[in-house]
Amino acid sequence: MKRVSLKRNKENILAMQHPWIFSGALLTEGELEDGAWVEIVDRNQRVVATGHYQNHSIAVRILAFGTIPDKEAFYRLRVQEAFQLRRRLGLIRPDSNIFRLIHGEGDLLPGLIIDVYGSTAVIQCHSIGMHLDVPVIASVVSELDGIDQVYDKSQDALPAQYRATMQNGYLVSSPETDAECRENGLSFHVDWEQGQKTGFFIDQRDNRDLVGKWTSGLQVLNAFSYSGGFSMYALAGGATQVVSVDQSRLAIQWANENARLNAFTGHEGICANVFEYLQQTEKTWDMVIIDPPAFAKSLQKKHNAVQAYKRLNILAMQRVKPGGLLFTFSCSQVIDRELFQHTVVSAGMETGRPMQILHALSQGADHPTNLYHPEGHYLKGLAIRIH
Ligand code: SAH
Repeated sequence: MKRVSLKRNKENILAMQHPWIFSGALLTEGELEDGAWVEIVDRNQRVVATGHYQNHSIAVRILAFGTIPDKEAFYRLRVQEAFQLRRRLGLIRPDSNIFRLIHGEGDLLPGLIIDVYGSTAVIQCHSIGMHLDVPVIASVVSELDGIDQVYDKSQDALPAQYRATMQNGYLVSSPETDAECRENGLSFHVDWEQGQKTGFFIDQRDNRDLVGKWTSGLQVLNAFSYSGGFSMYALAGGATQVVSVDQSRLAIQWANENARLNAFTGHEGICANVFEYLQQTEKTWDMVIIDPPAFAKSLQKKHNAVQAYKRLNILAMQRVKPGGLLFTFSCSQVIDRELFQHTVVSAGMETGRPMQILHALSQGADHPTNLYHPEGHYLKGLAIRIH
């Protein structure tokens, strides 16, 4: 394994336990291959960390603060620990078999996402190094109780130059897979091959649950609905009318299908741009949910994104009946909770209506954040009552 060291003035950054080393901190001798495993050594040549190298501003993603003598044993241990944690959290049950098994840095595996849908695990690698290790990762994942398929869906998540030479596909497949996916007793059709991300937005589970508790007798608008996750909980909670709006035709098709799967009536799926829909409709709702995609994918886009969130929140607030509820979210990593809340406050000021925050919302416990890597905490939301 290649060894690298840190510049003299950067030697103590490891004490912060952040799992990334930026290229400016690295003292490299000779060429390093993209995705290679590297050991970081101190001035006494002692190995202080092991990680994946990438020719990028994030040069090393740290897998362990020390040596990793056996790659397979290392991945097996991390994956099994993560699986046990989800079990202890009560997230693996017959009536709920959709969960995130590995949440990157939050599970001490930077660059790796694994989501489980029934008996299928879907892997999404965000670094070359992780993707080179996918065969061994798939093998240890297939050893887990109840997993009989492993699908690699890394193509869109990897840097552009790697996309042309790789394809998504099954690493382990089974003809008898149990395709029925359930979340808190509700059935969902999840298409990990054609769907967005790994197929479903698992991070919203707890927030969907909260929505379901408050929807009895309400008319609910679920904007940016994808396959209708929030809509199904609203219907289960006794909503009398639920409209799902998404610009993706497939998403609306799945939302309608999910309503059928759960034998719900009172659901309508509308394929439209949410901004246009909100501008054109006159109708007001007892509850409005807005869960847009990340408007800011990079720091440069932050300012425009804030403006877009503000515009969207103003439009949504205007569609909430007096005394009604707004669930508003942002999954942009570069917009932190404080900035998000400021944005919602400034949207509120434009409407001039009194509002109360009932809950500050976040991602579920199967999306843990590494304490030393606050960037991993990306999902923010507010449940607001509007007078
Ligand atoms: N709330 C969903 C996840 C939403 S993901 C859930 O719980 O599953 C964001 C969704 O917004 C995607 O389905 C995407 O197709 C949709 N989308 C993105 N931009 C849009 C726009 N301008 N108008 C309507 N839908 C949009």
